[in-house]
Amino acid sequence: MSKYWSEAVNGLTPYVPGEQPKDTGITKLNTNENPYPPSPAAEAAIRDFPLDRLRLYSDPDCAELKQALADHFSLEKKNVFVGNGSDEVLALTFMAFFRQEHPLLLPETTYSFYDVYCNLYDIEYKQIPLCDDFSIDLNDYAEPNAGIIFANPNAPTGRALALSEIEALLQRNTESLVVVDEAYVDFGATSAVELINRYDNVLVIQTFSKSRSLAGMRVGYAVGHEDLIAGLERVKNSFNSYPLDMLAIASSVAAIKDDAYFRETTQKIIDTREWTEKALAELGFVTVPSKTNFLFTSHRYVEAAELMGFLRANKVLVRHFSKPGIDNHLRITIGTPEEMQLLVDTLKRHPDIIS
Ligand code: PMP
Repeated sequence: MSKYWSEAVNGLTPYVPGEQPKDTGITKLNTNENPYPPSPAAEAAIRDFPLDRLRLYSDPDCAELKQALADHFSLEKKNVFVGNGSDEVLALTFMAFFRQEHPLLLPETTYSFYDVYCNLYDIEYKQIPLCDDFSIDLNDYAEPNAGIIFANPNAPTGRALALSEIEALLQRNTESLVVVDEAYVDFGATSAVELINRYDNVLVIQTFSKSRSLAGMRVGYAVGHEDLIAGLERVKNSFNSYPLDMLAIASSVAAIKDDAYFRETTQKIIDTREWTEKALAELGFVTVPSKTNFLFTSHRYVEAAELMGFLRANKVLVRHFSKPGIDNHLRITIGTPEEMQLLVDTLKRHPDIIS
């Protein structure tokens, strides 16, 4: 620790490098990546990219990608913001909009970066407990004027809110900016993107990392009313933050246009999720209903930490959280059918699991 670190920096826990192991013999079901390769169109866009163009800086406006996203959602370019992964879009959102006099409301159990950003940027926040079944009840977010952020579907629980619930929140909290993080929305939930033409108080954030299989390219985006997008641009440009690189732009433009491949791979993941949920139930697991590419599950008798260690010893990585309230659950990413079969076969070898 350095004497120059603020309390917020001192309290940070650096990302564990073990989550991205170099060993290729590992079945990696711990960070919600897509098991399928990116669209062949994205691969071709990278392969065929004219390398001589790399000597130039990339377009600071990322206009081609913004326009492709605007076309995809039937919006205008002024409604689209892009960043280096949705993590960067989220960070800029916190900086731009949540330094306000009212504390930001967020679920107590959700994507762990939200309170990290609050602490780093000195934003006051209030964590709202989930219901007993791990669902979010938006009636608990009624405080007028407060900023609100949640992930839909939520992470790490996998539960989704209905669009009607989000719309009711926007109608009730007309003075609140509501940010919906839809990193996992394509695996069976309903997106709030269609609300942005009717409500100027909602910002929807999505990513190419999950359903588009481009986590390594670091591409995320926000869509919302043009004034919200202009606010994000002001913050991003005021400290000369990096535009996306040329290969990230080329591959994500190709990926967003390849709807057939997107549908095929997301459906495969949904089918595999349903298979895995049933297979885990037969082994004594109780799983929260998921609309994502992961399952949040606990075993009736065997502790989650024990199972995580057992799987790790057998070269299968899953995620376990030590946070009280969710510390007896595992979060398991949906991989290929073969990977999920391997997970189930490995679990069957645990001495306390009876199949
Ligand atoms: N939101 C949620 C809920 C996430 O789980 C993640 C990453 N796992 C992100 C945002 C960030 O994703 P990325 O930066 O890869 O777009």
